[in-house]
Amino acid sequence: MEVQDILKKRLHNNILHLSDADLSISQKMKNDLAESFLKGIPFAYLLGKSEFYGNDYFINHDVLIPRPETEYLVDLITQEFKGKATRILDVGTGSGVILLSLLQNNVGKTGVGVDICEKALKVATINSQRLRLQDRVSLLISDRLQNVEGSFDLIVSNPPYIKATSHKNLVHESVDTYEPHQALYLPDDFYVFWFEDFFQEIRNHLKGTFFMEGHELEVEEQAKLLSRLGFTNISIFNDLTGTKRFLRACI
Ligand code: GLN
Repeated sequence: MEVQDILKKRLHNNILHLSDADLSISQKMKNDLAESFLKGIPFAYLLGKSEFYGNDYFINHDVLIPRPETEYLVDLITQEFKGKATRILDVGTGSGVILLSLLQNNVGKTGVGVDICEKALKVATINSQRLRLQDRVSLLISDRLQNVEGSFDLIVSNPPYIKATSHKNLVHESVDTYEPHQALYLPDDFYVFWFEDFFQEIRNHLKGTFFMEGHELEVEEQAKLLSRLGFTNISIFNDLTGTKRFLRACI
């Protein structure tokens, strides 16, 4: 028996078998699913869903698969701001997992989610409806904060933060092959300017606290940049693997 066959058998027994009732799919579909999985397509894309902070979200190739580190960020914000924020902005909302989780947990009353990608906003719209949060959410197309109006007491973002060339070797092959590049990468020579403009835009719309997920090799420089731009109470904190991952700053 070939290794592929053994793996396929295991998949059927351990994963696909368990989801039988759920998926009610034919043997042929199971085989196709196993083939795709063995090719390296992430399971979340095959199922079209991913669990995040206690809810199931619809996802497709137009959005990133939500990560556990982002879930941890949402938990930290929720602990600190439950019942305390009024209007939240999520920049680069993707599937909407950050914004919708915060609203569902009453971190804020209303929220605006922006994304540069129209197709991603369709995914976020579906998720807002599934969670019955559509009346508290506005979703709009915007490159960073270009089309954003008004001020917010909480701004969150998981922007693209991988340098397309120099960080590339740290990216898993399946991430690079199957997840949307626009949500992951920025050109190396543009990176610092991109974040400088981004932080200035944040400053213009913030009366409160800003949280961002970032790259472990960049967050220290970005903390200094935030300070130069007039943000206060700046801190860096780790994800659950002990890696520097998040920024928090106030205006
Ligand atoms: N954490 C993601 C990864 O490692 C990157 C997400 C992002 O660029 N916002 O693939």
